[in-house]
Amino acid sequence: MSQIHEDVIEHLRKENDIVEVIEEYVQLKKQGKNYFGLCPFHDEKSPSFSVTKEKQIFHCFGCGKGGNVITFLMEKESMSFIEAIEYLADRVNYTLPQTNRKQASLSSDQKSILDAHDWLTKYYHHLLKFSEEGKNGLTYFAERGIDEATINEFQLGFAPSDSKFTTEFLEEKGFHLQFLVKNGLLTTSDNQHFNDIFRGRVIFPIKNHRGQAIGFGGRAIHGEQTKYLNSKEHELFQKGNLLFNFDLAKKEIRRKNSVIIFEGYMDVIAAFQAGLKNSVATLGTALSMHQAKLLKRYVDEVILCYDADDAGMQATYDAAQLFEQLGTAVKVASLKDGMDPDDYIRKYGAQSFREHVIEQANSYFRFYMQFKRKDFNLNVDSERIAYVEHMVAQLATIESTIEREYYIKDLATEFNLSTDIIQHDVEKQHERNFQPNKDNSFQNRNTTTRQPTYQAVLLAHIKAERYLIAYMFKHPYIVEKVQQQVGVAFNVEEHCIIATHLYGLFEAYNEVDVSLLVDKIEDERTKTIVTDIAMISINDAVSDLEIDDYIAFIQHEATTGARLRYLEQKQRETTDSMEAIKIGAEIIELSKQLNMR
Ligand SMILES: [Zn+2]
Repeated sequence: MSQIHEDVIEHLRKENDIVEVIEEYVQLKKQGKNYFGLCPFHDEKSPSFSVTKEKQIFHCFGCGKGGNVITFLMEKESMSFIEAIEYLADRVNYTLPQTNRKQASLSSDQKSILDAHDWLTKYYHHLLKFSEEGKNGLTYFAERGIDEATINEFQLGFAPSDSKFTTEFLEEKGFHLQFLVKNGLLTTSDNQHFNDIFRGRVIFPIKNHRGQAIGFGGRAIHGEQTKYLNSKEHELFQKGNLLFNFDLAKKEIRRKNSVIIFEGYMDVIAAFQAGLKNSVATLGTALSMHQAKLLKRYVDEVILCYDADDAGMQATYDAAQLFEQLGTAVKVASLKDGMDPDDYIRKYGAQSFREHVIEQANSYFRFYMQFKRKDFNLNVDSERIAYVEHMVAQLATIESTIEREYYIKDLATEFNLSTDIIQHDVEKQHERNFQPNKDNSFQNRNTTTRQPTYQAVLLAHIKAERYLIAYMFKHPYIVEKVQQQVGVAFNVEEHCIIATHLYGLFEAYNEVDVSLLVDKIEDERTKTIVTDIAMISINDAVSDLEIDDYIAFIQHEATTGARLRYLEQKQRETTDSMEAIKIGAEIIELSKQLNMR
């Protein structure tokens, strides 16, 4: 499986609490002993993904995925085993022994791409701070109130206007210029002369969610060229899958259970400096479903803070639609006419931005009422009526009575109508919308947790085996007893495999570590069964009698079941009708016995 010593793996699994690692991807809520959240492996609206701290494993009752902290990273981040180990080592500042550091599974091209971006980030950053030409860039940032600490934190940079410096620097570092062109780091028109894409611009390094630079945004500072340029996409840089500053904002996003989404890099940087560290931006493209889903896993609420112009309003509406589909609450932070967030902060200061823009963010419905005005000519009576009717239909899709009530008043006041009449219409439509099992809400925020019910429908003997294994997980002293009395005579093949590993682990460590067990088992289906069983809620204490019952049951099933299968086989083969009848009678008798249990 790997070249890394088992003790090291063991150590890293112990140091990296699975709840903390998974919380970097999924918003978890504690319920009883376990943590629940929305499964990152399948689409769902109510949480069926659970994590146990005690056993250090996760399991999804919806799609059945399960495993330990290492498997989680392998599945979620498509890491190899070694990469997952390296990631966990990094996370706890543990230095892996050199001999253990085998080739990670990034291809050598991918590594070169990361290296080249890393060098270029440092190079641009250095030029901004120390070159003569870089002073133009420093002035640009200074005028926008960006301080040195922020410049360093984001590794902001400046690209020289003469491409020669950049190409020479990269060649010196051992990169082939053609390769850099292919991966969006340079351009060429004739394959002989190579150009720095961003010459004369200030540079915003764009990093992946692990904090590695994989692209750049460059802003013109003289006003004569295209305002913003972004690196073109390459295999490690897909704009729709990334968010600017997500690497730095991740922790705060989770802590606040809220994220602020901007359109521009400068907005994020200004907000970040103003103390709003849960800020991210899209990469010059409209918000994608992928990005929306990524954020949904972290938060219950998003705040959209786009430019206050028509394009910004439309982008707000489009983004809000995605979150509505996902059932995430949306708020809209509105700015004064034509301003962008960065302008606002510069003009009115960080405190005002926090207090008057972000904290005063409107509900999405308030924004929607505003936004839809453009589709109606409100000076004309018939259009005013059409507008109110449209809003009534929308209001009827809101689940919360209080919320509906609130906007009904708004609408009534604004159009000088009776609250009762609007209320009546809204409620009538609302009832129609919310017939049972209809999931068409404007803001559907289902927070109920799906509990495992399928254990109930398993066949009795399968259930008995699972409970027995669950008790072995919890009380290792039972392992020995089961080993002696049942051995590998479980009736389900996967349970045999699990038991065999359990016996082995118990012999080696005198304890049962489910997370380690997951590592040992190679078959995916069996792995899933392990986590599935580990999630069964069983009593803390168990009597010997109860365990004996399970064992007897399993043994009985093993003998009766085996006899039954033997008889069924014989019945199919026999040509003697008398014998067939005799066999049939015994089959009925045995089946009765099995079903009675
Ligand atoms: Zn799932």
